[in-house]
Amino acid sequence: MKNICILGSTGSIGTQALQVVDFLGDQLNVVGLTARSNVDLIEQQIEKFDPHMVALADEASADLLRERTKNKRVKVLGGQDGIVQVAAMQESEMVLSAIVGIAGLLPTLEAIKAGKNIALANKESLVTAGPIVMEAAAEADVEIIPVDGEHSAIVQCLAADSRCESLRKLILTASGGPFRNASMDELGRVSPEQALKHPNWEMGRRITIDSATLMNKGFEVIEARWLFGVDVSRIDVVIHPESIVHSMVEFIDGSMLAHLSTADMRLQIQLALIHPERKESPVSYLNLSEIGRLTFLEADTERFPCLSYAYEAGRTGGTMPAVVNGADEVAVDAFLKKKIEFLDIPKVIKQTMDAHEPVLDPVLDDIIAADKWARHFAEKASSIHTR
Ligand code: NDP
Repeated sequence: MKNICILGSTGSIGTQALQVVDFLGDQLNVVGLTARSNVDLIEQQIEKFDPHMVALADEASADLLRERTKNKRVKVLGGQDGIVQVAAMQESEMVLSAIVGIAGLLPTLEAIKAGKNIALANKESLVTAGPIVMEAAAEADVEIIPVDGEHSAIVQCLAADSRCESLRKLILTASGGPFRNASMDELGRVSPEQALKHPNWEMGRRITIDSATLMNKGFEVIEARWLFGVDVSRIDVVIHPESIVHSMVEFIDGSMLAHLSTADMRLQIQLALIHPERKESPVSYLNLSEIGRLTFLEADTERFPCLSYAYEAGRTGGTMPAVVNGADEVAVDAFLKKKIEFLDIPKVIKQTMDAHEPVLDPVLDDIIAADKWARHFAEKASSIHTR
């Protein structure tokens, strides 16, 4: 039995991970859980999974949870320090990093330093601090196993041949989101409710909006750069509306390998949690003749410029990806609160990027400072676009 800790257990990835734990029976044992403020759900999770330690980032919520669980053996911690303590707790062997946003970076780094293997869903860790995270993992000799469908697909394709000299390109697939066929006029009128309706995936709010703008795919390009050590110029994106092919690897001889499955994140979560094993999963098998047709199209960066901005940030490197992430977190939040329009999201990001002087070989403090600066700048830029 493997002891695991889930950071972000009340979110889309966290709750699906607990379904996987349940499905696998006695293979995984949950020893730690964290969330921000969802007391009701984490209380139910404590009841069912009996972890040793939990933490809520919001101190008042932690106090409430402590009160509600005072007759249980679970230790309840509060604040960012509490989250970090759970991430690094002695009993766990693997940490599923599934907090949303840059809030996931420090706990992920602390888990790595404490020698835990990481099942990585939190994309902001690699987007904002890729070299720092990968270096820490190498130093601590821990594995980083991606949960994101695209990177999980590439890991599986590279199992056939992972030699650098064999590889030509990584090709990430993107569904294209709910507005794949929308005109610029239509994009100008998109509401948060429409943008939150992803055609193929049920995900948290931020990543759903990032999927609609294609920023999410751009972030995945940056993540892939660090996970697989491949320059962004050799990472392509192709629109694949069916979300059946989760990504591909092209080799120098013209061979291409792809990973296909039903669109259900529990598969990738299970693969990461029990890596390198493969077992039956709660996911339904693919019926290719029922699907009938798989389509691949070029990504349109005129209508979805966020993808180009992420490539640009990936090429610049240093603090620029953290700035793009910080500006995006603010712009998406402003859009969800109906303060700015859908088409203002890329504008806010671009203005923030243009105003930033990147630090090219940053340490962690530079990343944190760049994130803070970007948020401040993007707040101001958003208020100019406020409708
Ligand atoms: P959700 O918004 O559904 O869940 C986020 C989780 O993080 C919740 O448990 C939330 O707690 C917690 N949280 C939020 N803010 C903080 C904070 N400041 N400190 C500590 N905990 C916090 O997100 P998702 O599950 O969709 O995504 C999680 C990560 O995984 C993201 O980085 C996303 O990009 C990535 N990812 C997600 C996929 C998906 O299918 N959902 C696919 C691939 C990657 P609370 O509920 O209390 O607010």
